[in-house]
Amino acid sequence: MRRPLIAGNWKMHFTVPEGLEYALRLRHDLEPYAAHLDLVVLPPAVMLWEIANALRGCPIKVGAQNAGWEDQGPFTGEISPKMLAGWCDYLLIGHSERRQLFGETDEELNRKLQAAFRHGLKVILAVGETLEEYETGRTVEVITRQLSAALYGITLTAATDLTIAYEPVWAIGTGKAATPQYANQTMGLVRTLLARSFADLAASMRVIYGGSVTPANTRSLMEQPEIDGALVGGASLKAADFIQIVQATAEVVRSKRV
Ligand code: PEP
Repeated sequence: MRRPLIAGNWKMHFTVPEGLEYALRLRHDLEPYAAHLDLVVLPPAVMLWEIANALRGCPIKVGAQNAGWEDQGPFTGEISPKMLAGWCDYLLIGHSERRQLFGETDEELNRKLQAAFRHGLKVILAVGETLEEYETGRTVEVITRQLSAALYGITLTAATDLTIAYEPVWAIGTGKAATPQYANQTMGLVRTLLARSFADLAASMRVIYGGSVTPANTRSLMEQPEIDGALVGGASLKAADFIQIVQATAEVVRSKRV
């Protein structure tokens, strides 16, 4: 059984003091669940260092929401994986908001992935189809293109630190999560595609779901065999909701072990 991962994507929310206070609350309330799953928070870059220090020695890991591919240089406003290395555990790459609002291309995401692995970061790579692609039956084509472009040249060794987040764009922030069956089926496809690049590893790689995950739908999603956790946006901003999502996932893990 793959160990689940629950990641909270804070996007562009909270001031630094608010983020710090929230991280300390999560540290207090979530520690007991770390025996059953991996936990990650993805705060905005401006508070990442502060929160990494606040969570030091605790099982909740921190990750950045984005980084470039160069180590340093004239890239105003950008942060590099080299700057994150050694104290930040994870990096989220390819979130649909980065792809759509900031025009990130598959080729750029491949460069980011290479750079992240060069600096020892664990990567959550997000893929997913838009509503129009979904409605015109192009999901398989889109996921195949996104994955094969992003994973080009990635070694088997590096891929051990890779998690794929399947996030149908039409489900992000809309309150309309994919059905557990649809998510499971598409994530099965993701695993089949992973096996083309990483035959011996694909069965043990994590594929997590993102898109309007709430305390109410967590259990039914996590019960699916291909769903190894969740990337949570809106519901990760409210302690009560995020804690319930973690609790529900831990309960599914426990019930599968019995
Ligand atoms: C996300 O931003 O990755 C996400 C899944 O958002 P939400 O949970 O709000 O749909």
